[in-house]
Amino acid sequence: MRALKRSKFIGLFVATVAAAGLVPLAAGTADAAPVAAAAATGSCPAAGTVTQWWHSGHDGVDIANSRGTAIYATGAGTVIASGPASGYGQWIRIRHDDGTITEYGHMYERLVSVNQRVTAGQHIARMGSEGDSSGNHLHLRTYASASASRGMNPVDYLSARGVGLPCTPGGGGETPGTNFSTWGTSVRVRQDARLNAAVVRTLTGPTPVYVECQKRGDSVTAEGYTNDAWSYIPALGGYITNIYIDHPAAWLPGVREC
Ligand SMILES: [Zn+2]
Repeated sequence: MRALKRSKFIGLFVATVAAAGLVPLAAGTADAAPVAAAAATGSCPAAGTVTQWWHSGHDGVDIANSRGTAIYATGAGTVIASGPASGYGQWIRIRHDDGTITEYGHMYERLVSVNQRVTAGQHIARMGSEGDSSGNHLHLRTYASASASRGMNPVDYLSARGVGLPCTPGGGGETPGTNFSTWGTSVRVRQDARLNAAVVRTLTGPTPVYVECQKRGDSVTAEGYTNDAWSYIPALGGYITNIYIDHPAAWLPGVREC
């Protein structure tokens, strides 16, 4: 059975009915995408692959993606730095309302200026490889306070705000938006669109996903289909053959090429 995923439409229906006062908002969402259990205040800083985690020799996390990928404020606050910075090429620092600081580096374009007020999830920069960097990525640092000399682990900082890495921007940041669903069982997520690429995860069953882009890779024959298109799913950190994306088209409509 390869029925189209309809959660987006059902969600709209529920919102419309709820607005009309007919049913409580929580009713009737059995087929909708899962909703985060805890209220979240944070937003995903950028889609991409975490290429380096926080450790003793690395004061931050690196999130890599293509040049120009949007970088978002992880929370509401005030911009306290935006400009050239040694090592970073360019940086942005935001002081959040809880006194914590987030710091973003290596972008090729900044979209906010000092003293500007930003909201959680606001698009503040475009990813680049400026300064001391060997590829397009966001270097994100998080500080417990303005006086902290070393950043705290961004994984802890973000998880306290309801965001896990890697993450998918959108929907306010706390709940990744999804545009497709996988089908089948034991579906492998691979590091690249190749059958010999490492398996980064295996999906046990149908899973709502956000497909960011698709590209041609190894031709795969399974479940009666042959297809060489693969979907990139940033939240899972890899690619799935389009055979296991629940849509009748081999090349997904409305999804750009990676
Ligand atoms: Zn880094």
